[in-house]
Amino acid sequence: PIVLGIETSCDETGVGIVRGTTLLGESIASSVEQHSRFGGVVPEVASRAHLEAMTPTVERALRGAGLTLADVDAFAVTAGPGLPGALMVGVAAAKAYALSLGRPLYGVHHLAAHVAVDQLEHGRLPKPCVALLVSGGHSSLLLVPDVATDVRSLGATVDDAAGEAFDKVARVLDLGFPGGPLIDRAAREGDPAAITFPRGKYADGTYDFSFSGLKTAVARWVEARERAGEPVPVADVAASFQEAVVDVLTHKAIKVCRDNGVRDLVIGGGVAANSRLRALAQERCDAAGVRLRIPRPKLCTDNGAMVAALGAELVGAGLAPSALDLPADSSLPIETVSL
Ligand code: ATP
Ligand code: MG
Ligand code: FE
Repeated sequence: PIVLGIETSCDETGVGIVRGTTLLGESIASSVEQHSRFGGVVPEVASRAHLEAMTPTVERALRGAGLTLADVDAFAVTAGPGLPGALMVGVAAAKAYALSLGRPLYGVHHLAAHVAVDQLEHGRLPKPCVALLVSGGHSSLLLVPDVATDVRSLGATVDDAAGEAFDKVARVLDLGFPGGPLIDRAAREGDPAAITFPRGKYADGTYDFSFSGLKTAVARWVEARERAGEPVPVADVAASFQEAVVDVLTHKAIKVCRDNGVRDLVIGGGVAANSRLRALAQERCDAAGVRLRIPRPKLCTDNGAMVAALGAELVGAGLAPSALDLPADSSLPIETVSL
C-alpha cells in the first residue's frame, strides 16, 4: 500500500509518500524565514503558511514520486502534539483528501513518527528499542516496544527543550535563528573544555532533562565578560555549551538502554543533526555495546516522510484507521501512537 503523510505541527509543511519502508517522494515548505526576525515560531504566521503551502506541497511530492492522488491507498497526518492552529490545517487537509478519494486516514503522534522515520533509512526497527528525541519543542526519552502500538515515555525535559536552548544561546551570542546549526558551526573552532557549564539533572537518577539553568549560566557568563569590557570568545562558549547539552543527552540515553537491557538506540528530532551529538553518541554507544541509528539530517527535522513512515507501519500492522471526526490534539499523550 502507498501511504501519503502530512506534517504541520510546527513551521514545516511536510508531505511524504512511502510504501513499506521505502520513501517514494517527499516535499517540504518551511515558514522558518518568516519567523526568524521574531526569534521563534509565531503560531498565526505558521498556520497561514501551512494553508498556502498545503496543496502545492502535496502536488510536488506526488510529482517527485511519479504518482497521482488516485495511486494513494491511505493517508496519515500528525494529529498532535504541536501548535493547535497549525495541526488543524494538516488534519483538515488530510480529512478532505481521504474523504474525497474514499481512502482510510490515520491520525498519528508526532514523536512516534520521529521514531518510525528511521525505518526509511535503516530498515525495520528492532523491538524493543530506545529513542532519544531532541528538537525545538521536545527532549524525550522513549522506550519503544513497538512503534505502531506501544511507545512509553520514560523521561522528558522539565523546562526548555534541547533545541530551544540552542536557539536561545545562539541569540545571546548574536548568531541568528534557528541557532542549532549556527552553534554547531561556531563550536567547530572552539574548545569544548574552555568553560565548565552546569549539567542539569546529570546524576539525579531520573531520565529527565533540564536546560534552562544551562541557558541562564551561559547568558550570565557572557554578560560578565561584556561588563568587564572583554571580548566574548564565541567559539569557546558555543563549544562548551554544546558539550554540556550533548554530554547529558548521551549519558541519559545510554542509561535507559542499560537499565532496560535494550541494545538499540534511535536518535531523532532536529538536534540529532548536531555533529557533536552524533560523534559522542557513537563513541558512548560503542563503549556500551549499543547499536546506534540516526537518520540523515533531512529526516531528523520535521518532515512528511516520517508521518508516512508511521502510517505505513500502522497499515502493515493491520490497525484500524481513525474516525473521520479525528481531532487535532495539541497535547496528545505519547501513549496514543494513533487515534
Ligand atoms: P518539534 O519540536 O515540534 O519537533 P521543531 O520545528 O522545533 O518542532 P525540528 O524541526 O525537528 O523541530 O528541530 C528544530 C530544532 O533543531 C531547532 O531548535 C534547531 O535549532 C535545532 N537544530 C537543527 N540543527 C541543529 C544542529 N546542527 N545542532 C543543534 N541543534 C540543531
Ligand atoms: Mg521546525
Ligand atoms: Fe518534530
